Amino acid sequence: MSLVPGHITLGDDEQTLIQAVGEFARNELLPLDRAWDRGEGCVDDILPKLAEMGLMNLVVPTSEGGLGCAYHTYAAIIHELAVSSPATAVTIGVHSQVGDILERFAGKSIHANVLTHWGSAEHFAAFCLSEAGSGSDAASIKTTAVEVEGGFRITGEKMWVSNGLSARWFLTLCRLKDSPKGNRFCALLAERGADGLTFDEIHGKMGIRGSRTAVVNFDNVFVPADRLIGGKGQGLEVALSSLGKSRVGIAAQASGIAEACLSEMVSYARERVQFGKTIGKFQAVSNMIADSAVELEASKSLIWRAAAGIDRGEFDRRSTSMAKLYASEAANRIAYRAVQVHGGTGYVQECRVEQLYRDARITSIYEGTSEVQRIVIARELEKV
Ligand SMILES: Cc1cc2nc3c(=O)[nH]c(=O)nc-3n(C[C@H](O)[C@H](O)[C@H](O)COP(=O)(O)OP(=O)(O)OC[C@H]3O[C@@H](n4cnc5c(N)ncnc54)[C@H](O)[C@@H]3O)c2cc1C
Repeated sequence: MSLVPGHITLGDDEQTLIQAVGEFARNELLPLDRAWDRGEGCVDDILPKLAEMGLMNLVVPTSEGGLGCAYHTYAAIIHELAVSSPATAVTIGVHSQVGDILERFAGKSIHANVLTHWGSAEHFAAFCLSEAGSGSDAASIKTTAVEVEGGFRITGEKMWVSNGLSARWFLTLCRLKDSPKGNRFCALLAERGADGLTFDEIHGKMGIRGSRTAVVNFDNVFVPADRLIGGKGQGLEVALSSLGKSRVGIAAQASGIAEACLSEMVSYARERVQFGKTIGKFQAVSNMIADSAVELEASKSLIWRAAAGIDRGEFDRRSTSMAKLYASEAANRIAYRAVQVHGGTGYVQECRVEQLYRDARITSIYEGTSEVQRIVIARELEKV
């Protein structure tokens, strides 16, 4: 089932794109995602195919060669991807997030030389905000940028960087050295191949194993002045404004995972027989299915509302955080029930819900934990 509400009629192009992505994901990504989970390859191996499908250029405007998707279309596409491959959904989500930031904050040369090629696999991007000592408290980062002739030099270590092992571009939040009170931030676009830029893979993740995650080390890495994204001192605003939007993408990843769980649950409840009946006939089991269906619909409604708000230019943090909080927590509950409905069968790797249960877990952690979303929602309510 699509993320798009039944009463909404999309344009033919949007509808065709969402359907094509769904078919591609079911036919091609699902078997790959299962293999990636077993440690056989990763999403990075199929970037050219994702580029060919237009998936690496969803948010860049058509005037710059992108698909210029509305945010609701973008969310529906992330949902379709996540039903079959949660790892691909986050990969495209992070790459799109950086594209969106560049589109809104970068100068002319980045628009002309980078964004116009954004849809190709060679321009794969990563977003570097978190550090070992700085997660929820983004303003406590220690990575520094020093202004030098012709640009900046970055020193520090970024942690948990999705896409980090293969990306060409690293949108990196830094603290500007020697700025007043040491609290001015800047966002810099570092490029793979720069001296001093190195990577280490983070092994042993619980889920989304097809998405590789890295520690990115910056040892006096030079970044030319035209790769300052936004102004000096605007870095935190750049990073946080993008997180506000990309949370809808993570919510859509969560709803996709929940959709897959529900579908697995329903199929299994129809075929598994105990006490002479299919288990779906037992009210305890059908209640788990019904609760999951309701929570999934509620997730989709919140996501759609938040995405449609962004499209109308009425972006508000409360709606995006509500969508992220609810959809991610619901996905975890639904994944739990999916395993429960499968009994012992759901506890082994061969069964898809075992993977979905692990994949769902990250959605309430990254791009702001559930606790952080609650803080945002309450703070926004207090402003009214
Ligand atoms: C697989 C994966 C991929 C990731 N990808 C990226 C990426 O591409 N780029 C990037 O920059 N980051 C990325 N992250 C990092 C992610 O965004 C952080 O892990 C997340 O923001 C939480 O930060 P933390 O892990 O430091 O936890 P902490 O901030 O240390 O939080 C630990 C616990 O304390 C709670 N807590 C913290 N502060 C408060 C508070 N004020 N009130 C109540 N509770 C609080 C949290 O909710 C949590 O339960 C990724 C993480 C993972 C695991």
